[in-house]
Amino acid sequence: MSGLTVNLKTPITGEFTLNTGLYINNEFVASAEGKTLEVVNPTTEEVICSVHEATEKDVDAAVAAARKAFDGAWRTATPQERGICLLKLADLAEKNADLLAAVESLDNGKSISNARGDVGAVVACLRYYGGWADKIEGKTIDISPDMFHYTRSEPLGVCGQIIPWNFPLLMLAWKIGPALATGNTVVLKTAEQTPLSALAFAPLIKEAGFPPGVLNIITGFGKVAGAAISSHMGIDKVAFTGSTAVGRTIMKAAAASNLKKVTLELGGKSPNIVFNDADIDEAINWVNFGIYYNHGQCCCAGSRIYVQEGIYDKFIAAFKARAEENKVGDPFHEETFQGPQVSQLQFDRIMSYVKSGKDEGATVVTGGDRHGDKGYFIQPTIFADVRQDMKIMQEEIFGPVAAIAKFKDIEEVIALGNDSNYGLAAAVHTKDLNTAIRVSNALRAGTVWVNCYNALHHQLPFGGYKESGIGRELGEAALANYTQNKSVAIKL
Ligand code: NAD
Repeated sequence: MSGLTVNLKTPITGEFTLNTGLYINNEFVASAEGKTLEVVNPTTEEVICSVHEATEKDVDAAVAAARKAFDGAWRTATPQERGICLLKLADLAEKNADLLAAVESLDNGKSISNARGDVGAVVACLRYYGGWADKIEGKTIDISPDMFHYTRSEPLGVCGQIIPWNFPLLMLAWKIGPALATGNTVVLKTAEQTPLSALAFAPLIKEAGFPPGVLNIITGFGKVAGAAISSHMGIDKVAFTGSTAVGRTIMKAAAASNLKKVTLELGGKSPNIVFNDADIDEAINWVNFGIYYNHGQCCCAGSRIYVQEGIYDKFIAAFKARAEENKVGDPFHEETFQGPQVSQLQFDRIMSYVKSGKDEGATVVTGGDRHGDKGYFIQPTIFADVRQDMKIMQEEIFGPVAAIAKFKDIEEVIALGNDSNYGLAAAVHTKDLNTAIRVSNALRAGTVWVNCYNALHHQLPFGGYKESGIGRELGEAALANYTQNKSVAIKL
């Protein structure tokens, strides 16, 4: 493939031209080996277009560009200048919101209303970190009258960032915001299933005034470009969001190469707990949103639902009715809540979990099949009477499949909630403040929501306990993932 652009069309944008090359040094370039990868529309199962596929040589070129920028223009830029670039990038993303949202829906399949929400969150996140750029400070430490001691908070260097397909643009913003605000340069790899929104975003980088090489975006496969990033000797840190299995591989590669710093945001199997005294209508809305939002493709999806025995039957009947109201269909229809799953592979994976739930004897309350006969659509599915040892209660399904079980009391549900290798998020629904606080404190999870779900915000740290990850994204906490302290001691 020699071309670097393709003409595409969506119902929102009409026809537009998209760059398909690798974005290195503020330019779109062809992959060194001329390789490409096909991008599939999950709604129609048809190929949308091909984009350039980065291989090791391209990763080398992107790292060289990022290193030159780190040692040059980005190092000499003042913190305020770095912040202004990020703020301009946020403004440009806002100006191009319709295009970015439409492209996001096209290859990811997420509903256009969700995609617009994601772009809004991208803008807010970039603005937040733009504001941080000139507030990264060191300390003076008084030790002795004969010495002067101070610390500096310095960038790590060149950061490799590997993102997943479930929130392509939002994950990009979560990653680049703190990295660039603190003075690092970046080589970011998109997920192979969803490279298009990052390619639509990339031209804004130059327009925002970032010097060449500060932010490079490459499209390619995990086992090729992703592996080249995690083992690269010229990369100082790798930040990854995706599956726990790949997280382990990346950490091994980082350790075996140059011991680069690692942060991981991995999977989850989050408990969503409903007590007898909860406002049941509210709780059902949040439980529905917790599991079916983004088609269940959320690392923090509330996929283990524990309902106290006094309201169990009533809850299941009402939740069934609520889930059946969710509009499944074309992501470009304004009223659609749930579009297709991202790929045939994910569709097959989820359907194999549905089969396993049926085989292991859980009760299908609703759904349990594909939706329609074209596209990777799955019916919102509820399994009730799920035993704790069943696969659908233990493993991350990453699809619109809820597993419900009954519990007696607070001690039992804390034990059930913590009975998982994961620890990303959890939620509690109750009117009793005591119960809410006791359960929130006892659950081993990085985020706990009370009487709500998915209440994420760029000012609030997000990350996992146990096998759900290492480090925190968002908030002030994320800045620590991208800086290192230097202590300077001066003899007077
Ligand atoms: P994945 O972990 O394989 O892919 C995520 C990213 O990692 C992609 O950019 C991919 O190209 C890259 N990657 C894959 N193998 C790599 C390797 N060896 N070295 C470096 N990078 C590599 O996720 P998937 O296979 O697309 O999805 C599988 C499961 O992962 C999902 O069902 C879900 O459980 C989980 N997942 C979690 C999240 C999350 O937000 N935590 C996001 C996506 C997927």
